[in-house]
Amino acid sequence: MIAVSKPAIAVHVGAGRWSREQKVIEEIVELVRSSLDAGLRAGETGSSLDMVVQAVKVLEDSGIVNAGVGSTVDLTGSVSMDSGVMYSKTGRAGAVAYVKYPRNPVVLARYVLEQTDHVLVVGEAADRLAERLGLPRHPGVSARVRNLYEDAVRKIRSGEVPQRFYSRSLELWLKLFGIGDTVGAVAVDKDGELAAATSTGGVFLKMPGRVGDSPIAGAGFYASKCGAASATGIGEFIILYGLSRKAVDSLCGSGDPVSVAEEVMRDFTSKYGGDTAGFILIDREGRAHGVYNTQAMPWGYATREFVKVFGF
Ligand code: ASP
Repeated sequence: MIAVSKPAIAVHVGAGRWSREQKVIEEIVELVRSSLDAGLRAGETGSSLDMVVQAVKVLEDSGIVNAGVGSTVDLTGSVSMDSGVMYSKTGRAGAVAYVKYPRNPVVLARYVLEQTDHVLVVGEAADRLAERLGLPRHPGVSARVRNLYEDAVRKIRSGEVPQRFYSRSLELWLKLFGIGDTVGAVAVDKDGELAAATSTGGVFLKMPGRVGDSPIAGAGFYASKCGAASATGIGEFIILYGLSRKAVDSLCGSGDPVSVAEEVMRDFTSKYGGDTAGFILIDREGRAHGVYNTQAMPWGYATREFVKVFGF
């Protein structure tokens, strides 16, 4: 792999099934570019933590992916979100789970990392914290997600899909409704410090109360002096495997992001099957790679010299 300049950043907008429509592809490519741009701009004067939070915030604000404003809904039609961040300079992580109040869960996760002694704060208490901090409020279920939900409810009620599919059938979830559009970013700054951030509304039609991998350090996100990773896919498998930590730890030593990511993805797939996950990985040299075993996982990679978008 060639050497690249720092700062460097990669972002993803979720593993899953993605529309092949040209209009959708253009919209997503544009979004990935804006997110990379915001992250790189933050890296001109700031840290990799600033970079990943700014990049993910752009994705959360977009309303067209499953995080922040565009978050998907659970079986009862309500939004609950998870997000986590980690920073190699302090070796600390901060995360929030099952939050409904903040427009930008990633900002609240950063607050937990920087301003508390905790790693994970959840539910109503986390929402009250967001309110007390004066963070902008989530605008409620988007029209796009409301339409998807109403369509799914209609299919379930009409018997077009099995009525009890949701409680014990992740595979079926996947076939019927797909996973996807969770977002994440990994970055290295001028000083060689690494950061990772992930944010999601979780899997569509999840059980109320369900929390996935995205706010679990080592599963949905991880950063150390060796590298940083952000994962997406079926959270239950990602937690059990410890996907982000496995990928980052495998970089310590002589591994490069391409061979490490491909090998970890192969191993994950051999255990949990295809159509289950993907992740992005960056090392301290700023070399990044994205892998997935789903139909697609739009992701982008940028330094001052180039911007690239892959994954359709
Ligand atoms: N990993 C997320 C979750 O399980 C979903 C996704 O990546 O699309 O909550």
